[in-house]
Amino acid sequence: MTGTGWAVIGPQRVQTAPPLRPTVPVTPASAASARREPAPSHRGRAGGGRARTVTGVAAALVTAVLAVVVAGQVEDGTDTKAQASTADADGRSAPQKASRSDSRPTPDGGVKAPVSFEQKMALRYPLDAKAKASGDFQTVGGHDQAPGKGEVLRYRVDVEKGLPLDGALFAEAVHKTLNDDRSWGHGGRRTFERVSSGHADFAITLASPGTTAAWCAKSGLDTTEDNVSCDSAATDRVMINAYRWAQGSPTFGDQMLAYRQMLINHEVGHRLGHDHETCPKAGALAPVMMQQTKFLATDGVTCRPNPWPFPA
Ligand SMILES: [Zn+2]
Repeated sequence: MTGTGWAVIGPQRVQTAPPLRPTVPVTPASAASARREPAPSHRGRAGGGRARTVTGVAAALVTAVLAVVVAGQVEDGTDTKAQASTADADGRSAPQKASRSDSRPTPDGGVKAPVSFEQKMALRYPLDAKAKASGDFQTVGGHDQAPGKGEVLRYRVDVEKGLPLDGALFAEAVHKTLNDDRSWGHGGRRTFERVSSGHADFAITLASPGTTAAWCAKSGLDTTEDNVSCDSAATDRVMINAYRWAQGSPTFGDQMLAYRQMLINHEVGHRLGHDHETCPKAGALAPVMMQQTKFLATDGVTCRPNPWPFPA
């Protein structure tokens, strides 16, 4: 049942706890001391204060260099675990996030570049296969216009309260994916508008495995076998299983952005009336309506992973 799920998360859970401790606090601390070092009082002194000013500047430079080194380890992409934990910590600790962004426009410049959407989407995030959350939902605020032509479908993004995942990132991913020309609006047939109040045609919902199962069961669907997602058609919710969103699937592979695009397109595809499909030909791109979380082969014919209904 959950054997494969544990095999995936097992090794990572071991890595997440202790090794992360050093990297996370070190960056803000050294950045903060770099800010504090050239205190205004040094500059205010005349004559005799000069020697102290020089050593002060030197100390600031050393600290700044250290900050660059530390930031470099986190930002260059070599240490994926550290990045994942940083993003995860961002979601939980608003004050820490604020102080870290304050430290970005330092005089030496370029110490810490903002992490891009693509970078965040390329990472796996720690989440247990049996993670539980509150069962209550919070709507992601704001509004994203429908950028395309054709029928306008309005959707809302809800995230289960208590999930240690970035709801705004999820909403951004949904909007970008659905409005990509390779998605269901292909050729201007429809376009998707994100709303946070008023009427929505459906609600794309990021929820823990247990809450996903509960909502899918309302439509007679069992998501517990492989810990998957569903379109709960008897309700207004398209359920995205947070475990898959965070961890992906060994079958699909390591392309986490593509995997998440596939999840969104597949489940919204159900909402638009599409049923499951099989692999048409060895080596072909999998139809987006194949169950690519579970397998890439049907009847002995193996396809390649594919997130799009209309791949370029
Ligand atoms: Zn399906």
